Amino acid sequence: MTDWFTEKQTPHLGLTLEVKRRLFDRTGPYQRVEVMETVEFGNLLVLDGCVMVTDRDEFVYHEMIAHPALALHPNPERVLIIGGGDGGSVREAVKHEAVKSVTLVEIDQLVIDACREFFPALTASFHHPKAQVLVADGFAHLDDHPQAYDVILVDSTDPVGPAEVLFSPAFFHKVRASLRPGGFAVFQSENPFLMGGIIRKMHQDLRPLFGQVALYLALIPTYPGGHWSFTLCADQVNPAQVLPRPLSFEDSLKYYNQGIHTAAFQLPGYLRRLLAP
Ligand code: SAM
Repeated sequence: MTDWFTEKQTPHLGLTLEVKRRLFDRTGPYQRVEVMETVEFGNLLVLDGCVMVTDRDEFVYHEMIAHPALALHPNPERVLIIGGGDGGSVREAVKHEAVKSVTLVEIDQLVIDACREFFPALTASFHHPKAQVLVADGFAHLDDHPQAYDVILVDSTDPVGPAEVLFSPAFFHKVRASLRPGGFAVFQSENPFLMGGIIRKMHQDLRPLFGQVALYLALIPTYPGGHWSFTLCADQVNPAQVLPRPLSFEDSLKYYNQGIHTAAFQLPGYLRRLLAP
């Protein structure tokens, strides 16, 4: 009998993938962690029933969470990634010549262990000389690191369970306080079509803290609702108006390039209206 996995993206909408083999299924203190081999997308990481990463389309999310901020910041020496225990964001961040250190703070050892076994091409980045991996709560980590980072990437799960706090105003204040002067923060900010209310609230909470708060978009086949969004926060640089630095490794990327960067900040009318102050 054919095995299918369905992520219920809303109570009335699901994404279904055909599964070849179930490879891993354990529940730890934070969440249920599953890995499946699928027919169309290679290995698939699922946390608490939600699609996180597939071999085939992970490049879109990881290139797009990392490169826009790193290509705009004039000298992104110190990078912090909160969440992201699959290693994909670290893999992208270490590519930048200006980046001297990338600290990953992932709360769940089980995610790291499962990804080391089933996504070795992503977790290989943990052994890069610039990378450091800490198993800890990202919220708590920020308390001990005031003005420590040039770029902070919040590569979190959806706002439930351990990640709920990563969408709170208290967390946004801590992120702000942990940035060096001129620092940038990027938050994965969910699907605007299905979860517009979350994005609107995030932007309302972030605007008093940063001079510039800009939404940008990418298309990720296994994420719900068409577009996926990220929110980039800076003090002075308006990311929608400034051209990013050319990247020496741009030709090796599969999604991000200067044209995509510029286009990603252009929003359809329904999103301009959603974010209107
Ligand atoms: N690409 C993904 C997506 O949006 O679907 C995100 C994937 S990444 C695996 C998200 C990670 O954030 C998870 O491994 C989860 O354990 C981690 N996480 C959730 N809350 C956290 C917290 N408070 N501190 C650090 N990591 C956290």
